[in-house]
Amino acid sequence: DFQNVGFIGLGNMGSHMAFNLLKAGHSLCVYDRSDAAMQFLAKQGASQAKSPHELAEQSDVIISMLPASSHVEEVYTGANGLLSEVQGIRPSLLIDCSTIDPQTSRDLATKVGHCKLSRNARHIGSEVPIMLDAPVSGGVGGAAAASLTFMVGGPQIGLNAALHLLHIMGKRVVYCGGAGNGSAAKICNNLAMAISMAGVSEGLALGQRLGLDAQTLSDIFNTSSARCWSSDTYNPVPGLMDDVPASRNYKGGFSCQLLSKDLGLALTAAKETGISVPLTLQVHELYSNLCKAGYNNEDFSSIFQHFYKGEAL
Ligand code: NAD
Repeated sequence: DFQNVGFIGLGNMGSHMAFNLLKAGHSLCVYDRSDAAMQFLAKQGASQAKSPHELAEQSDVIISMLPASSHVEEVYTGANGLLSEVQGIRPSLLIDCSTIDPQTSRDLATKVGHCKLSRNARHIGSEVPIMLDAPVSGGVGGAAAASLTFMVGGPQIGLNAALHLLHIMGKRVVYCGGAGNGSAAKICNNLAMAISMAGVSEGLALGQRLGLDAQTLSDIFNTSSARCWSSDTYNPVPGLMDDVPASRNYKGGFSCQLLSKDLGLALTAAKETGISVPLTLQVHELYSNLCKAGYNNEDFSSIFQHFYKGEAL
C-alpha cells in the first residue's frame, strides 16, 4: 500500500478528491501553483510542496488533476517537474486524472517508463515507474461525494496498484486498455454527451415553438426513443428538474469552457486518426460561440437558453 500520496491540482475537482484521500487516513502532500488553493488542504492536515519535483521526492504515488494537456506536460516535464530529477523519480505510480489529449497521455507514459527504477516500483510488480491516465466522469458533485467513475488506460499492474486509491475517490473504475485509452474514452464520451445535449435542446426548443409544453415533451422523450442522459437526468430546461444546473441559472455544473476544450481534443484526435466528425465540428463551434459571448463559466446545458431560446446569440 502507498504510504505517501502526492496530489497536484487542487481546483474544483482536485480539492474534493484530495480531501477524500485525507479523510480516509492517507498521509497527503499537495502542490498547486495557486497558494490559495493549497490553504484549504493544508488546514485539514496536508503538507505542502514548493514544486512538483519537491512533491515527487516525498511521495510514492502522485495523482494530478489539472486543467489541460499543456498543464500536465509542464508539471511532468517542465523545470522542477515530476520527471526533472536525473536520478529518477521516487514515485512508482503516477495517476493523471485530468481530461487531456490521448497522445499526450501516451507520450508522458513512455517518458515515465524510461525513468530509472524508482525505490518502490518493484513493490507494485514493475521494473519501471508506471503512469496511468484515469480521467473521471461525475462532475464536482461526484468528486465531493466520492462517486466518480474512472476510465483508466495503462498497464494492468498499474491499475491493480491504483485500485485502492481510486475507490476512495470514486465508485466505478473501468479499465480501457493501454496508455491513452482512458483519455480516449473520456473525450469520446464527452463528444457524444455534447451532441446529445444539443439534440435534446433543439428538439425541446422546436417543440415549445410548436406549442408543446416542455415537461410533456420531456416525458415523451424519456419514455421514447429520444431518451438519454441529457433529457432524463440533466434536462436543460429551467424548472423541469430539481437539482440540475438548468434550475439554478446554469451555475455549479460542467462549464461551457471545459466542454469546448474537450471537443477541441476530440477534433484533434479525429484529425490525427483521419476520421471525419461533422457533428463534433458543429457542436464545437456552437460551444466556442457561447464562450465568446461570455458564457464560459455557465453549465453546458445553457446551450438551450442562449442558443435555442435566442437569448444573446
Ligand atoms: P480547475 O481549473 O478548477 O482546477 C485546476 C487546478 O490546477 C487549479 O487549482 C490550478 O491552480 C491548478 N494548476 C493549473 N496549472 C498548474 C500547474 N502548472 N501546476 C500546479 N497547479 C496547476 O479545474 P477542474 O474543474 O478541477 O478540472 C480539472 C480537470 O478535470 C480538467 O481536465 C477537467 O476537464 C476535468 N473534469 C472536470 C469536471 C468538472 O465538472 N469540473 C468533470 C470531469 C472532468
